[in-house]
Amino acid sequence: MSYQAGPCIKEIHITPIAIVDPPLLNAAGLHAPYALRTVLEIVTEDNISGISEIPGTKDIDAALEESKKLLIGQDVFQLNQIRHILEQAFGTDSVADRGLAPWDQRKLVHIFSAVEVACMDIMGKVTGKPIVDLLGGKRRDRVPFSAYLFYKYEGAGGELGFGLNPDATGWDAARQKSALNPEEIVAQAKAMCKEFGFQSIKLKGGVFEPRQEVDAIIALHQAFGEKYPLRIDPNALWTVETSIKYGKEMEPYLEYLEDPVRGQENMATVRKALKTPLATNMCTTSFAEIPNSIAIGAEDIILSDHHFWGGLRASMTLTGICETFGRDLSMHSNSHLGISLAAMVHLGAALPKMTYALDTHYPWQSDEIIKGGRLKFEEGSVEVPSEPGLGVELDRVALAALHQNYIACGLTKRNDEIEMQKVNPGWTFKAVRW
Ligand SMILES: [Mg+2]
Repeated sequence: MSYQAGPCIKEIHITPIAIVDPPLLNAAGLHAPYALRTVLEIVTEDNISGISEIPGTKDIDAALEESKKLLIGQDVFQLNQIRHILEQAFGTDSVADRGLAPWDQRKLVHIFSAVEVACMDIMGKVTGKPIVDLLGGKRRDRVPFSAYLFYKYEGAGGELGFGLNPDATGWDAARQKSALNPEEIVAQAKAMCKEFGFQSIKLKGGVFEPRQEVDAIIALHQAFGEKYPLRIDPNALWTVETSIKYGKEMEPYLEYLEDPVRGQENMATVRKALKTPLATNMCTTSFAEIPNSIAIGAEDIILSDHHFWGGLRASMTLTGICETFGRDLSMHSNSHLGISLAAMVHLGAALPKMTYALDTHYPWQSDEIIKGGRLKFEEGSVEVPSEPGLGVELDRVALAALHQNYIACGLTKRNDEIEMQKVNPGWTFKAVRW
């Protein structure tokens, strides 16, 4: 059989959307009433369509727009060549581009992730294989996720803003409630675990002074017991001293402590002082940072994110590096819909080890852009799709409606500090607070 060129890209559609997001608190401030995502659709010359979803930012949308002319005509199977073309156009990201915020803003990794996932969706449809098979095949049929708790103000987000939808029931009602102290965090955890069946629990910290957040962890342990491993993520807002003091206190309760301090050196210092493993999605966030991470021992677990590490195949490379150097790999998340969740599930299914359930914001979202509605969790896990490609299809009516939300809401990038200042005038982000 002679070599045949693969399907070539005919069209690329970039659709920014705004999805309802509740008033969740974090180290950087407060979530806006809408979270932004960008949906990419690639169509081949024989009209096969592939989709992907990345965090929405005006600058990255513009770069994606610019990349269209470079990508039209490219063979979707030639991802190495596509990556080279994008690197030539946009340069490789520097570590400094990561910024101080708890989320990532680098250009190339986002663009390539968007293009790669959509191309792999097409590759799967052409070959009749799910994406997990293109990553080397399944190691598990179901991918476990962790409950992701947030301190929050009362409210639903979206047009309701801080208001309440009185007709909501079950988790939809619980999701609207405030969580500003340990008791309310425990109530949130009970409602979320009841709805989704999660079997491990993460608390987003860095919101209140550490004593209150540590008390919330102790309250969760008292409410859920040994069977539910706990994590807390202060988003690097603590000092080394604070991290060691409270890290020691939480040693009996935590399966890992995520980014208590800022920077690899501080993380290495805290790691030496604690028995609890340290995880990061802040101090080691790129391949360029791996050599120093290994040299000084900055963390035990890298929380990968295919949107930020440059796609699914780059995440497989990362898991190999983690295996080589005795690190674990788990997954970080931001507010997202079902296209990103499906991609995470394919990747999660292909990982050689699954020591820790993955992060997801999915329970906080109520919108969806895939046909058939929101993906289901059973006992905290999502079944790996067996259909070709991602296994999810775009709901174009929902996409158009969420694009209208984007236009109407006026947001163009995430800025949690500005949202927080609307509630607490004078509040400013601090890289280290306690
Ligand atoms: Mg984190």
